[in-house]
Amino acid sequence: MRSATPQALAPAIRDDRSGAVSLSCVIPCFNEASNLEILLPALRALLPTCANLWEVVLVDDGSTDGSDALLHRWGDEPGFRVIELSRNFGKEAAITAGLRVAMGEVVVLMDADLQHPPGMIPEMLAHWRAGSDVVYAVRENRRDESIAKRVGTAAFYRLLNSFERVKIPAGAGDFRLLDRQAVDALLALPERNRFMKGLYAWIGFTTAAVPYEPPPRAHGKSHYGLWKLARLSFDGITAFNSWPLRVVGAVGTACALVGFGYGGYIILDYMIDGNRVSGWTTIVVTLLFFFGLQMVFLGIIGEYLGRIFEEVKARPLFVVKSDRGRGLSARR
Ligand code: UDP
Ligand code: MG
Repeated sequence: MRSATPQALAPAIRDDRSGAVSLSCVIPCFNEASNLEILLPALRALLPTCANLWEVVLVDDGSTDGSDALLHRWGDEPGFRVIELSRNFGKEAAITAGLRVAMGEVVVLMDADLQHPPGMIPEMLAHWRAGSDVVYAVRENRRDESIAKRVGTAAFYRLLNSFERVKIPAGAGDFRLLDRQAVDALLALPERNRFMKGLYAWIGFTTAAVPYEPPPRAHGKSHYGLWKLARLSFDGITAFNSWPLRVVGAVGTACALVGFGYGGYIILDYMIDGNRVSGWTTIVVTLLFFFGLQMVFLGIIGEYLGRIFEEVKARPLFVVKSDRGRGLSARR
């Protein structure tokens, strides 16, 4: 296995990728018992055909559906490792927990709900062997999603990618293969707000995209409703963009200039025409407008302040309750 030291100072030496490979499959699970019953046997059959050493790292993100009994059983199987978090910390934290313990030189991240077909792993691995460090699956279409979600997603990527240097590809999710170097780079990022789509893009490396058509969820329903998605989008935009603050500054400056201009006009008017008490409507409307604007601006600044607060508290991203299984198993 290659060294796992993050941010090595010496330039990384490209290993020969044609030979033996060790592969970890990291899966965050939140109430996925019935899906895992299908997915795990499939992975146990598939992974030994792709890699010489393989492991499946399951992160139980505080499930309450009785997954723990099933996961404990799988934790005793060779090649499986089960990390149980002390409560539900969210998918992003669960992924980070899995990445921390994954030992493979190649790590595949996937969902537990069979929307990320395991059958694509060999194709991803082929891209890795050809030199890509990050291979991500891109959804071909969003026909399965509601119009509201599609429009919202399009607007979100527009906003997200509007000004920044790091472009986040639309349609690329968490289903991806990461080279050890990329995993170490991700783990070296210290922030608590782990908007993974942004972090994947931030680390860079040679990437390749593999198109796929996501099948519907095998069992259960998505954990991400419209409200949760909106919050996640807000996290993403504030974590990767400072343009909202710049817009606030620009609008403020423009208003101030207009204000000065109008002030000058009123003074001139007073000097020429004398004092006429009128314009009550103008005053009230102007005051209301600027009070409103200030509240919005304070809200935007508050969002950033809140995020700074989260970061300076420096709490751990998750708490591990139990850790079963030894992971990496050799092909027999
Ligand atoms: N997940 C998780 N913690 C959460 C929510 C989701 O670990 O708080 C896992 C979930 O078990 C699944 C993956 O994240 O393996 C994707 O979740 P889901 O299918 O609900 O999201 P979608 O496919 O709708 O984006
Ligand atoms: Mg899903």
